[in-house]
Amino acid sequence: MSSCTSCQSKNSCPSAGEGQCPSGGQEQVPERQTFDEPHNLASVRSIIGVCSGKGGVGKSMVTSLIALELAKKGLTVGILDADVTGPSIPKAFGLRGKLSGSEDGIFPAQTHLGIQVVSINLMLENPEAPVIWRGPVVSGVVRQFWTDVIWDGLDVLLIDMPPGTGDVPLTVFQSIPLDGIIVVSTPQDLVSMIVKKSRNMALMMGVHILGFVENMSAIRCPDCGKEIALFGPGYTAKAAAEMNVPLLDRLPIDPQLAELCDAGKLESYDQTMLDGAVSAIMAALAGKP
Ligand code: ADP
Repeated sequence: MSSCTSCQSKNSCPSAGEGQCPSGGQEQVPERQTFDEPHNLASVRSIIGVCSGKGGVGKSMVTSLIALELAKKGLTVGILDADVTGPSIPKAFGLRGKLSGSEDGIFPAQTHLGIQVVSINLMLENPEAPVIWRGPVVSGVVRQFWTDVIWDGLDVLLIDMPPGTGDVPLTVFQSIPLDGIIVVSTPQDLVSMIVKKSRNMALMMGVHILGFVENMSAIRCPDCGKEIALFGPGYTAKAAAEMNVPLLDRLPIDPQLAELCDAGKLESYDQTMLDGAVSAIMAALAGKP
């Protein structure tokens, strides 16, 4: 493919020659550097990033649920919590205490179902202490979660990315060989420019987007289970189609989910809500050795 007339990207800019470069005409596109090597004792078949345009849209919830659904299908799953300043994965799974390690490297914590988890909150003396570190330090920690952790026989490593398009997502895109990303969004953000920024960053970096997961698209009544759509149907599907990205799943606001997360018992959730995302990941995995 020819390089993009607007961004001169050496990646396969999908808009090359069409004047619709995702860089919006910026001249500098970050070069993809050589990926970091994983720990020599680690084994990971595929790596999927879970991203969002901004915080609080349920990215960690979706990461955790995908991990749960994959684990229930018999896959060996890990979660690298790259949301270093807002880590919420350990709490959802009721994980406390410190990660163990040896001279060789760091061992992930394990949930009841055997999901392997590495998070800064499993390393701090006080999990409520804020992480007040500058971007390069945070990025360095995330890289170490890839290079120094002995991930054990993973079929899928999910990376819970920090929100937005800043330093740390850029580091992940450049240093970890992602097989694809899933972008989580609320309905409002999906139709606004916020999600487009995440989508365009991935395109510019040459990272494959498996699809969108729309979260909080409806409210589920705890008594009768009926779902009330908060925004008329059709808007988000149309927005996704315009961006040429599949809309994989719609997850309603479910008070039971929030309760289980707060109680550290997410693994007791027995519904499958993310079939589309799980199928897309399984399809990506099928092409891997
Ligand atoms: P992010 O990772 O995008 O910052 P979180 O996954 O931490 O967002 O979600 C923010 C809050 O919303 C959490 O308290 C979480 O439990 C809750 N939440 C997210 N999605 C849902 C949902 N579908 N139903 C109920 N609560 C949800």
